[in-house]
Amino acid sequence: MQTVILINLSYTLAAVLFILGLKFLSHPATARRGNILSALGMLLAVVVTLLDQSIIDYRWILLGIVIGTVIGTLAARLVAMTAMPEMVALLNGFGGISSLLVGWVALAQPDLSNFILLTIFLSILIGGVTFTGSLVAWGKLSERISGRPFLFHGQRQVNALILLANFMCGVMFVLYPAQPLWLYLAIVLSATLGVMTVMPIGGADMPVVISLLNSYSGLAACAAGFAISNNILIVAGSLVGASGMILTNIMCKAMNRSLGNVLFSGFGAPSGDDDKLEGEVKSLSAEDAYYILEAAQSVVIVPGYGMAVAQAQHGVKELQELLEENGCEVVYAIHPVAGRMPGHMNVLLAEADVPYDLLLEMDDINPRMETFDVAIVIGANDVVNSAARENMNSPIYGMPIINVDYARTVFVLKRSMASGFAGLDNPLFYKENTRMIFGDAKETVNKLVREFSA
Ligand code: NDP
Repeated sequence: MQTVILINLSYTLAAVLFILGLKFLSHPATARRGNILSALGMLLAVVVTLLDQSIIDYRWILLGIVIGTVIGTLAARLVAMTAMPEMVALLNGFGGISSLLVGWVALAQPDLSNFILLTIFLSILIGGVTFTGSLVAWGKLSERISGRPFLFHGQRQVNALILLANFMCGVMFVLYPAQPLWLYLAIVLSATLGVMTVMPIGGADMPVVISLLNSYSGLAACAAGFAISNNILIVAGSLVGASGMILTNIMCKAMNRSLGNVLFSGFGAPSGDDDKLEGEVKSLSAEDAYYILEAAQSVVIVPGYGMAVAQAQHGVKELQELLEENGCEVVYAIHPVAGRMPGHMNVLLAEADVPYDLLLEMDDINPRMETFDVAIVIGANDVVNSAARENMNSPIYGMPIINVDYARTVFVLKRSMASGFAGLDNPLFYKENTRMIFGDAKETVNKLVREFSA
């Protein structure tokens, strides 16, 4: 009796740590603390569960912990910042397959009620979809498979049929749990459904898909928690499920699209009605840009994925300080989907010790964009694509962007006229007040820094 109370108290403490962790994770200044608290919560939950249940030989568990720690540490240390979303996709997938396996082994328990059988089926269905869907998302993000949406006639009907067949297997499984055929069929159909539902989604929408899959992995864990009657797994799964769904919603809002549109519109497929952009592209050297910056009273810096590729954040911070010393106000405008993962720009700028209060969100900066002398776009493209505001034929029409073209002068630092992740041309580059400064962002920023320091 006392053990049960102790275990439940420990689980409650772990749950409190998870919730506090999530709260702290919502701000860059406290995110590290949030991570540590959540990890402590998970450690407590794992240790208590292991002590509570006589599972398998502890040597196996220790071996698993050692192997997992080595792989996890190496992966986290070696992965490039730009490859982080792919890693998150893989981790989601592992979460999904774990829940599927936990659900499967839960079948070995005695006296399975219909409710337990149902939760076993759900952990297999959601876990399977999460696993293969995440693998496809990983393939698309790492460009191992094409980022273009894979579409065919009647796709939605085929997917609906697979889902229906899966549910029928679920019913048969609950009615006849001793017959393994239904379980195996459910596993195969769930894995197929994961592939079939992510393949039609374009690479540019992968961040939302990953966030959604993250939510699924939580739901699968929650179902697995019911299947093995483990309270902390139910709580942790629900928290992941809910927070993944909230993030998905935030990202959809940032792109001004519904989740249905993201999942089913095949965004990124060639539409054939791309308007050819007309106008003159005016380029500028870093040396000439310096003269304009030297006279500027206010500058807004808009970073994007290219800043991560060039690793220009430290140079950018130096440029910010030099501009400030010169009497200029400098702020950063952060688009919610800039880069390749939520919070990507915040993480990079935090690494360079840029003060958090200089980072402004899109909705705060846009109303005062006209007041800035210069907007410096550093390796951003889609998040400042004015077609989203001006061209009703554009696939991204309606997506909120940072309106850099409303500033007096716009500098765009990138290597070429190439498009961004969404594969779309950007009319901003042809605007009267835009100057392209071609070259690697880090080199260009360093040149500007040298001009200021000279
Ligand atoms: P984009 O992908 O639109 O554009 C990045 C630009 O950076 C490119 O046009 C490229 O141009 C330039 N670039 C690349 N390397 C360098 C370099 N070394 N120096 C200078 N420039 C460089 O990035 P944005 O941040 O504007 O937009 C993010 C996009 O990614 C959106 O479409 C978003 O939906 C998607 N996405 C977002 C995720 C998220 O969670 N934040 C996750 C996954 C995708 P060039 O080659 O000419 O240099």
